[in-house]
Amino acid sequence: SQVPSLTLNNGVDMPQLGFGVWQVPDDVAEKTVATAIESGYRSIDTAAIYENEVGTGKAVAASGVARDELFITTKLWNSRQGYDTTLRAFDTSLGKLGLDYVDLYLIHWPLPAKDAYVDTYKALEKILADGRAKAIGVSNFLPAHLERLIAETSVVPAVNQVELHPQLQQAELRAFHAQHGIATEAWSPLGQGKGLLEVPTVVAIARKHDRTPAQVVLRWHLQTGNVVIPKSVTPSRIVENLDVFGFELDGDDLAAFAALDEGKRLGPDPAEFDYDA
Ligand code: NAD
Repeated sequence: SQVPSLTLNNGVDMPQLGFGVWQVPDDVAEKTVATAIESGYRSIDTAAIYENEVGTGKAVAASGVARDELFITTKLWNSRQGYDTTLRAFDTSLGKLGLDYVDLYLIHWPLPAKDAYVDTYKALEKILADGRAKAIGVSNFLPAHLERLIAETSVVPAVNQVELHPQLQQAELRAFHAQHGIATEAWSPLGQGKGLLEVPTVVAIARKHDRTPAQVVLRWHLQTGNVVIPKSVTPSRIVENLDVFGFELDGDDLAAFAALDEGKRLGPDPAEFDYDA
């Protein structure tokens, strides 16, 4: 495939662009993941809480693409944090996906008030040691949470998947990741397709390159070094979002993108988020 890979801190290669399936119902996920794989995506990002691991797994099985050419990520939901509950939740996810391993298993949120992410991560280390995940990591972790994991466990997370787009560039967090060899994966990379794609600067850069706003935003991520997982259920957009390797943003474009940072979250603040059901 044309998508470059990043090498994670344990030597595993991860495609820098993948396909996200949040808010895609299970039956739609089967169709839409099939379309994505046919279009050339090789990395799929799901989660137990998305309730579409079954549809995702069916699409993977039917794709005809060799398992070792695919990169499948799923995530442990908040209510299952804790050592034993995590091991059981992982079994359930693998069963729903119909796989004997995932490429990446993530803790979905830190839930600092619950104070269970260290034990939860130790279960991920066991899953890694058993070869049932090729890499393990976290999502929505702040530097304080990562520091605690690094101090109290043995495996530095390979990935931290966080909200990141031109209006929330996360410079400090990315610097922390770089220091510790953690890959930065951007969720809602298109800003959920809301205001970001209409911002005049983005529209102007798109016109200049004869590309769409979504394509130049994805290009910004790739040139910034992020892993991206844009979501769409529209076949033409699924193809469009993968077609971002035939052009490059220049220094002026990157400077214009840098000026869009507002530190504006679309999703919850991980320090506060404690939804546990
Ligand atoms: P996104 O930024 O990928 O935006 C998706 C939306 O943008 C689509 O629903 C559509 O409305 C629009 N869109 C997509 N392609 C377009 C195009 N080419 N032109 C115009 N509009 C387009 O948002 P997302 O789905 O929130 O994030 C992507 C993935 O990140 C999710 O599917 C999920 O896998 C992951 N995610 C993870 C977390 C987490 O807590 N770990 C949270 C949110 C999302």
